[in-house]
Amino acid sequence: MHTTKKVRVRFAPSPTGGLHLGGVRTVLYNYLFAKQHQGDFILRIEDTDQSRYVPGAEEYIFSCLKWTGLEPDESPIHGGAYGPYRQSERKALYRQYADQLVKNGYAYYAFDSPGELEKMREDFKTEQNPAPQYDHTVRSQMRNSLTLAESEVKKLLDENTRHVIRIKMPENETVSFTDMIRGEVSFNTSVVDDKVLLKADGMPTYHLAVVVDDHLMEISHAFRGEEWLPSAPVHILLWKYLFGLDAMPQWAHLPLILGPNGKLSKRDGAKYGFPVFAMSWTDAKTNELTEGFKEKGFLPEAFINLLAVLGWNDGTEQEIFSKAELIEKFSIERVHSGGARFDYEKAKWFNHEWIKRLEVAGLREQVKQVFSDKGIHITDEQLLDKVIALVKERCHLLTDFAQQGAFFFKAPEQYDMNAVKPKWNEAKQVFFAELIRNFELSNNWIAHDLETGFKEMAAAHRIKPGELLLPFRIMLVGGKFGPHVFDIAELLGKEETVARIKHLLALLQ
Ligand code: GLU
Repeated sequence: MHTTKKVRVRFAPSPTGGLHLGGVRTVLYNYLFAKQHQGDFILRIEDTDQSRYVPGAEEYIFSCLKWTGLEPDESPIHGGAYGPYRQSERKALYRQYADQLVKNGYAYYAFDSPGELEKMREDFKTEQNPAPQYDHTVRSQMRNSLTLAESEVKKLLDENTRHVIRIKMPENETVSFTDMIRGEVSFNTSVVDDKVLLKADGMPTYHLAVVVDDHLMEISHAFRGEEWLPSAPVHILLWKYLFGLDAMPQWAHLPLILGPNGKLSKRDGAKYGFPVFAMSWTDAKTNELTEGFKEKGFLPEAFINLLAVLGWNDGTEQEIFSKAELIEKFSIERVHSGGARFDYEKAKWFNHEWIKRLEVAGLREQVKQVFSDKGIHITDEQLLDKVIALVKERCHLLTDFAQQGAFFFKAPEQYDMNAVKPKWNEAKQVFFAELIRNFELSNNWIAHDLETGFKEMAAAHRIKPGELLLPFRIMLVGGKFGPHVFDIAELLGKEETVARIKHLLALLQ
């Protein structure tokens, strides 16, 4: 029944803070599904809870989408024919639907004050029911349009008395729908409370807004986090009451992303030292900075890849997918309904794979930024390209390029003297002094020839090359790391190589 509809999907974040990787995965699945079906991907800002609104959070969400390359076709900043795309700007639109529900007997006005609600929670508290809800068992004893005389209700409304509109959940009915991931899901309406649909400030709650907006924006498929499954019966009923079930989008509730203990939280990130947000986010109230995947040194290609397979596979063993492949192969039916465990070591493995896979040109700007963050401003782009090609195999994170590559642009500031000093002797001193002379005379500065010459010299001096290679590396790099030492010498060039040998020889004397 939905097959003729144009595919239109949406990501509907509330601008309340950092964008969790679960949120980005929701974006990704929406995006892939839309692209696969030549559909539209809409971003709708759900900012009806003004008390939770955080300035800057909306711009931040757009930056995250830009970085991941998962940009919407329609949004508050991209425009589109179904705007406005910010719910606060749609405020005037919702009331009529809430009133219509009241008129048809599916919802009611509730005038209860905070004090009266508090009293209800006290009065109805029992051992079996420690937190009573506003539902069919209590609504008949509250101040609402179901209990008050019609004239009284009219008077209260005419006087603009503070009120909300609540859905009148039917008693003991079964509501079911087919989730694209979970299959048939059923609920008994008796366990669901009479959710507020329109708040006293005239703003809709999520429950009303999501249904009205998904309808007006002609959404064909709605993918959202599993935490919304318990309120699905409310949304199904609202669809039935307002627009008819045939018009309802197909739902998919995405599984949770699990951390080391339960749902992956921001606190897990802080505790175990890995990012949970797409990009760094500073909490305006506490000034607390939470580092994001981007700043940690992840490539967007890798980030997308690792999120795609957190809860989905294509039925084979394949783990590495480009965005184009994902668009081709993704299917929402193959998303698992169980939670998917996030493993940071595995995340880094994906990044390493993508660093190895990408051409130098695909890494250049990002690596340049990493160096510049460390105060190294690259002027020789050709050298940069060669350095990237030489060390990328060793980098799991983009930030690793700083350690693996800085010495090409800047002489080491520190030397691992413990690696050299204990075995240093006169013979080695003589060897390196001669090496300097040979290097200075050399007019063939190629790694392979440097290595041959070095080894011949070592043989002539009757010293094992292994004894000499480590000090040579420390001279050039400062520590026991980096690629093949003669490749390093080649890139550094004759003058710089000689200068670095001389410098350490002086320190050793
Ligand atoms: N604003 C809701 C959230 O941030 C959106 C849920 C949905 O996609 O319907 O979780």
